[in-house]
Amino acid sequence: MKWRIPENHPRYESLKRRERLVECFFRGITDIHGLIAHGRGEAFDYLIGEHTTESAMKATEVAAEILLTARKPVISVNGNVAALAPHEIVSLSNVTGARIEVNLFHRTEDRVMRIKKLLEKYGARDVLGENADIHIPGLKHTRGMVERDGIYDADVVLVSLEDGDRCEALVNMGKIVIAIDLNPLSRTAQSATVTIVDDVERALRNMIEFVRKKQNEMKKNKNKMEETNKKNNFQKILNGYDNRKILNEVLEHIVRRLLSLAESDTDMLI
Ligand code: ATP
Repeated sequence: MKWRIPENHPRYESLKRRERLVECFFRGITDIHGLIAHGRGEAFDYLIGEHTTESAMKATEVAAEILLTARKPVISVNGNVAALAPHEIVSLSNVTGARIEVNLFHRTEDRVMRIKKLLEKYGARDVLGENADIHIPGLKHTRGMVERDGIYDADVVLVSLEDGDRCEALVNMGKIVIAIDLNPLSRTAQSATVTIVDDVERALRNMIEFVRKKQNEMKKNKNKMEETNKKNNFQKILNGYDNRKILNEVLEHIVRRLLSLAESDTDMLI
C-alpha cells in the first residue's frame, strides 16, 4: 500500500526519493542492496548540508567539458539512478550525444529490460545493456559484463553510485571515468578521474546546464575555434584539474561545517 507523504513534512523531498526507490524496488528496477547504498549516500548528504558545494560544482564543470570533448562517451545506469533521475539521464544523453548503457552490479536480464523500458518512457532511444557479452578485464562474473560497442569501447564513462572495483577496472582500461558519489571516501570517489561529490539528481542537473552553456559559447566562438585534436583537449582539460584536491576540499567542507554547528547555539536542523 502506498503511504501518502504529507507535503509539509520537513523532509518531504527526501521521503519522496525513498518512496520512489521503494516503488522501483517492487517494480523490479532497483535491487534491494540499492536501498542500503542510498542510505549511505543520504548520511553523507546530511553531513555536506544537502546542497552542491563549490568543489562539486568545479568537478561538474570539468565533467561537462570532458563529455563534450569525448569521442565515445557512455552514461552507465543502474537501478538507483534509473529510479532517482531518469529524466536527467535522458536529457544529458540528448544534449551530449552520450549513449546510455544499463550496467548492473547484481545483473539479471529481467532488471536490465525493466530499466531500459523505464528510460524509454522518458524518451531514451537506443539504450544499451541487453547484449552485454564482454567482460571488463579483471572483473569476473556478471558484474563485469558490458557491451562492446558501449562501455567497453567508450573513451569516457559516467558512473553514479558505482562500486569501487568496477570504477577502478574502468580506469585501468585507460578510460576517463567521471563518478557521481556522495561519499568522498569511497573507493569509487578515490579512483575516478573526476569525482563529483554530490547527489546524483543535483549533479546531473548542473551538468546539463554546464553542457548547454558551453555549447552556446562554442556556437558563438565557432569561427575563432580551430578543429582541435580531441585527445589533446582531454589533456588540456585535465591539466588544470586535481581530483585529490577536490576530494580534500569536500572533506574540509564537512569538517568546517560540523565544527561550526558544534560551536553554534542555533538550531542544527537542516
Ligand atoms: P566503494 O565500493 O566505491 O567503496 P561502496 O561500497 O559504498 O563504495 P556502494 O555500496 O555500491 O559502494 O554504494 C554506492 C555509493 O553511492 C555510496 O558511496 C553512496 O554514498 C553513494 N550514493 C548513494 N546514494 C547517492 C545519491 N543519491 N547520489 C550520489 N551518491 C549516492
